Amino acid sequence: MSADTSVQPLIIGAGIAGLTLGIALRDRGIEAEICEAAPELRPLGAGIWMAPNAMQIFGRLGLAQPIIDAGAEVERVALLDSRLHEISSSSLATVREKFGFTIAAIQRAELHRILLDRFGNRSLRLGKRLASIETIWPRPPPFSKTGPLLLLPVSSALMVFTPPRAT
Ligand SMILES: Cc1cc2nc3c(=O)[nH]c(=O)nc-3n(C[C@H](O)[C@H](O)[C@H](O)COP(=O)(O)OP(=O)(O)OC[C@H]3O[C@@H](n4cnc5c(N)ncnc54)[C@H](O)[C@@H]3O)c2cc1C
Repeated sequence: MSADTSVQPLIIGAGIAGLTLGIALRDRGIEAEICEAAPELRPLGAGIWMAPNAMQIFGRLGLAQPIIDAGAEVERVALLDSRLHEISSSSLATVREKFGFTIAAIQRAELHRILLDRFGNRSLRLGKRLASIETIWPRPPPFSKTGPLLLLPVSSALMVFTPPRAT
């Protein structure tokens, strides 16, 4: 399927979802602009687990290895009691066999940095907050010359399709 380059997606929020979406669209030949409310992006959060389904997506984007290198691949999951005695544990080897990845544990700030490094600054607008939205979908026509037209919520990122800019 060839990418429709006649629309320019606008992604609201340069968090994990927004940046991943921007990278995925670029890989398909679509350059999206990301608007982020914060005036600067600072390291935030603690550890985060990336489940095998997320790692499969990052694998397709060529980001799985940098994430594993900056964090750790979880090999076993154990259930402990309040005295930290093991109740049960299981290996994730079969998960890797089936899905290609186990779980990656990483500092959220590191994950965000990896995504930010890959997306770059070119299409990132900081200090730009989406103030309000008007959903006209599914009312036709889907495109006009006046403003945002189609809004798709993707996790907590929001993708806004706008008509092509006049050149
Ligand atoms: C305590 C905790 C632990 C978690 N642990 C895990 C875990 O182990 N594994 C896991 O997969 N998930 C975990 N999650 C969930 C994970 O953090 C979220 O799913 C993930 O951060 C969502 O990414 P996001 O990009 O959608 O949102 P965020 O990372 O919150 O990014 C949203 C961005 O949008 C910007 N923004 C908001 N409003 C506007 C606006 N109006 N205009 C412009 N920009 C705007 C914000 O400033 C922000 O930068 C955890 C969540 C919490 C709270």
